[in-house]
Formats: sequence, C-alpha cells, structure tokens
Amino acid sequence: MKFENYNIEPGIKKNIHTLGFKKPTDIQFKAIPPILKGEDVMAIAQTGTGKTAAFAIPVLHRLSQNLALGGEKKIRCVVMAPTHELALQITGVFEHIGENTKIRCLCVHGGVEQEPQIAKLEYGIDILVATPGRVFDLVSQGHIKLNAVEILILDEADHMLDLGFIKDIRDLIKFLPKQRQTLFFSATLNDKIKKLAYSLVRNPIRIQISPKDPVAKNIEHFVAFIEMDDKRFFLERLILENPQSKLLVFVRTKIRAERVCKALERASLPAATLHSGKLEKDRAQTMSEFRTGVTKVLIASDISARGIDIPDVDFVVNYDLPEQVENYVHRVGRTGRGTKKGQAYSFCSSEEKLLLLEIEEYLGKHITVLTISKRNYTATLELADEKEDNWRLLLNDAEKAAIKVWKKKK
Ligand code: ADP
Ligand code: MG
Repeated sequence: MKFENYNIEPGIKKNIHTLGFKKPTDIQFKAIPPILKGEDVMAIAQTGTGKTAAFAIPVLHRLSQNLALGGEKKIRCVVMAPTHELALQITGVFEHIGENTKIRCLCVHGGVEQEPQIAKLEYGIDILVATPGRVFDLVSQGHIKLNAVEILILDEADHMLDLGFIKDIRDLIKFLPKQRQTLFFSATLNDKIKKLAYSLVRNPIRIQISPKDPVAKNIEHFVAFIEMDDKRFFLERLILENPQSKLLVFVRTKIRAERVCKALERASLPAATLHSGKLEKDRAQTMSEFRTGVTKVLIASDISARGIDIPDVDFVVNYDLPEQVENYVHRVGRTGRGTKKGQAYSFCSSEEKLLLLEIEEYLGKHITVLTISKRNYTATLELADEKEDNWRLLLNDAEKAAIKVWKKKK
C-alpha cells in the first residue's frame, strides 16, 4: 500500500510526498483507516515508527473535509504532549503535512510568556498542541474554549502521567464535549495509564505493534561494564573515534549533565546540555543546534528527550542506566528512527547491575555485552597512544562472541 492509494485530500498527499514518505509504516497502516472513520484508537508502537504522522495525516484529512465556512474559527482538535520540545515537534509535523491546507495549528506550552500565545489564539486556530499545565491555565482564564473539540490526542501518555500531569488532564477533559474522538499514542503503556486511557475512550480500536521486543529493530544496543569514575574516559574515547557522529548521552541528574559536559570540555570536546533546569529559550536553542549538527554531543536528562525526533543521531549513550525501566526503551529510541539505523551503549557500573537486570526483565531479553579486555580498559583510562584497538574492534569482538550477560550470571 502506498500513500498515493489512500483516500485522502490531494494537498495532504502532496505534502507527504514532499516529506519523502513513500509508504506507511506499520503503525500508520493500521491506525490511519480507523482514525479516518472516526473511531477511538489506542496505539502502542515502538519509538521512531512514525506515530506522529499516524495521527496527523488522518486528523488533518478529517478536519479539512468540513471546514467551518466563514465565521469564527474554533479549536477542533487538541493534542497533549508531556514536554515543550515534543509539543513543538508535533506542531511541526502538523504544519508540514497540513501545508497549504486551511488548517491552522498552534503550540502553547509553559515556560514562556502567555500574552503572545493568547494573541495568536485570538487569530483563530483549528489544532491546539499543548503541554497539559499551560492549556489548563488558559482554559481556566477563559482564553481558550474547548466546546467545539472533535478530536483529543494524548501523545506519550504514560510519560504525562509520570510527570504528574494526570490531574491537569482529568480537569481539562471536563471542558471537552463528551461526544468526541479520542486517540492515545505511546511506545510503552503501563497499568496506571491503561486505567486512565480506558476511562476516556469508547470502544477503542487497540493497535499494538511488536509487543515482544519494545526496542525498535533498527537499533543495535549493547552494555559495557564500566566503573562510575571511568565512564567519562570511555565517553571521550567514543567521541574521539567517531568525530563526525552525533551522540546523545543520557545521565541521571541535571548536575551530572553539567559535570559530564565540563569534563568533556576539559578534554577539548565540545558538548551541550539539555535538562529541565535550563531556560526555555536556551533549551530551544540547544535543540536546534543539535538538530542541525552544530552541536555533535548532547548530554540530556530523561525528561527533556522523551519522544524527540532528532535526525541522524548515530549513538545513544546511557552514561547512567535509567532508573525507570521504560526509559531504557525511550532513550535508545532516539536513534534508529524512521528508516535509519543506530547504536546504543549502556555504561553499567557495579552499583548499577541490579538496574540492568530489571531492564532486561522488562525487555524480556538480554542485552549483548560489549566485552572490554583488561588491557583495553586500562588503555582507555590512559587514553594514550592506543591506536590498534578501537571502539569498532570492541564491537566486532562483542558480535563474534555474542556473549550474553545472563550466561555470565548463571
Ligand atoms: P514516533 O512518534 O513513533 O517515535 P515519529 O513520529 O517521531 O516517531 O517519526 C520518526 C521518524 O520517522 C521521523 O523522522 C519521521 O519523519 C519519519 N517517518 C514517519 N513516517 C514515515 C514514513 N511513512 N516513511 C518514512 N519515514 C517516516
Ligand atoms: Mg512520538
């Protein structure tokens, strides 16, 4: 099936073509028809499989079919996303796929002044993409009316729950018409969010793609046993050996992000940080520089990176293992997006071995161990004139041996 054969607005088809999408991904193939029909949908599909377009395409088509003629524009679709970055990105997808249609989309999120957002709202929009807190404020103050909403979309719903947005979402839903279409999209779905989801939908179509392996198939992922104090040397080595590559490095806390960044700078390796402790405008600037490749190494916390689609991230590094198991999937899912391939490395210290076990249990499989010989390990620490062994060599060893961590543990 090609996009050409879909019964959707020719203008939208043209935009899909311009984006270079030829055929739908699995989730798009399954989700687009029921959404076009107006059904409620709960969709779980791995990271980077095109979930945004899976809802944006049919929603834009539906909205363009019965445009309000004259009169005041009303908000007809609300999309909720957990972070500013994700809300902006989703808005971008709606704008690209909806280019030259009459559908107008606006992103509102916290952390910036409200007034300019209000001015734009008054101009009239069809689709509102928002973080739950800010939209709730605007609704309570009477700047937004949601009584004409036909479609509600929750993207990365489980993460919104983690961030404590559940009350905002519940409060907000009271302002929406009961008669509406509700769509849930996420890469992971925990029990708590399932409850919320079921309380909002009516006879939903459930779509789940490859539930057996939550890590997308385009991602090769490895774990390397590296002690806490040694991690930065291995990170330096990975960067030095891949000077052209884009690396996204995850750490546990904001303070650690800054610390790792400083350590890299001392080694003359430029890097940037992204976390919730930074100002909104700095976050946007950092993201844009990483996107365009001006910054090659970005050190981030979990919160700031959920759902983010950055082109051509070659490596994800779990400098610290995630404490929440689902975050492993979301972090490594920042590489290997769309049709691209990617690699992920987790640096696991002795203290983190329990976390590793929990992650493996969640994945239902073992992560291939990148074995580092003692000599190699010492050489990395010295970062001296080790020329014969490089990262790729380590990788080959790991592939050849295919040693699984559980074998060791047995
Ligand atoms: P998800 O929300 O599932 O994590 P995204 O919606 O962010 O994934 O999309 C991941 C990447 O895949 C984006 O760069 C997007 O442009 C690309 N993509 C989406 N649909 C297609 C398609 N049909 N063909 C090729 N690439 C696609
Ligand atoms: Mg997404």
